[in-house]
Amino acid sequence: LNWTGHYNQSAGLFVVLAAVGPWGAVVLDSAVVSADFVAFTYVVLPLLLSSLLLRPRVTIALSLLELVVLASMPTLIPATAPINWPGFLGFVATTAALSVVSSVVTHRDMAQLDRQTHQLARSEATMRELSIRDPLTGLFNRRYMEETLEREVTRAARVGSSLGVIMMDIDHFKRFNDRLGHAAGDVLLQELGVELARQVRSDDVACRYGGEEFVLLMPDSSLEVTALRAERVRDAVKRIQAEHHGRAVGPITISLGVAVFPDHGSDGDEVLESADSALYNAKCEGRDRVFTAEQTSTCREAEANDDAFQA
Ligand code: GH3
Ligand code: MG
Ligand code: MG
Repeated sequence: LNWTGHYNQSAGLFVVLAAVGPWGAVVLDSAVVSADFVAFTYVVLPLLLSSLLLRPRVTIALSLLELVVLASMPTLIPATAPINWPGFLGFVATTAALSVVSSVVTHRDMAQLDRQTHQLARSEATMRELSIRDPLTGLFNRRYMEETLEREVTRAARVGSSLGVIMMDIDHFKRFNDRLGHAAGDVLLQELGVELARQVRSDDVACRYGGEEFVLLMPDSSLEVTALRAERVRDAVKRIQAEHHGRAVGPITISLGVAVFPDHGSDGDEVLESADSALYNAKCEGRDRVFTAEQTSTCREAEANDDAFQA
């Protein structure tokens, strides 16, 4: 019973068997009481076991039961040998009292230990939650995203599936902050966090990559599906209505880059880089759009030529 996790039943059975022993001996052969009395002194054994294994109230009930039956023994079985019944009753009563006291003390200590263990488990869970969350948006933080990316890439490689990655960045957020203040910007980031959490499915991971950049990981998503989801996110973000000090803030737009493992990188870092590069293209092409790692942009080449010309 213990091996299968039925600890209470196991402890109860243990005590019952210890109680049945001496009384069973009396039932089978009443000479146990009148002649060979030593075996009968084992009536105290279940009380001691009960004090260790069961609740105090079980020990009290068992003690009372034993004492009542014991007290009626002289009338049930005529003694053939002189037995000091009052002395024996006193011995059992004292053992019972000590068992109950020890049971109360042990169980109180155990209950306290139990409470402390639960408290520890709760604070551990809280600490873990704090260590993987971004405090402003409530989304996962970058460290957690990087861990998950590694894990999901390994899993996708093992089972031969894909992993969709979306990287996004708020358009002209610096301007937004300059115009409405940093606090209003924070409110908007919070609302964006809520919206992203609403957009993802249970297997997906939404995280704040840094500042006003966010990453979504979508296990088992192809490039088409990931790009479609990115479009939906873009659309939903546009409709965010935030308020700060009674004043409406927003709307905002975002640019998104989409890449997929294993098509656009052989490991997590490479796929993330591909998504970042696609995001850069989306910005360069005019913002408020989704760009995939497979779409090419002439805009960056033009920019590079511009830089070279200026240099
Ligand atoms: P774009 O991305 O469209 O090129 O323009 P941008 O103005 O958004 O440029 P960039 O991404 O480089 O700017 C990031 C800005 O985001 C700068 C900073 O003021 C703002 N920002 C970053 N983190 C926070 C934050 O925690 N709270 C607020 N309010 N603003 C932040
Ligand atoms: Mg940025
Ligand atoms: Mg930005």
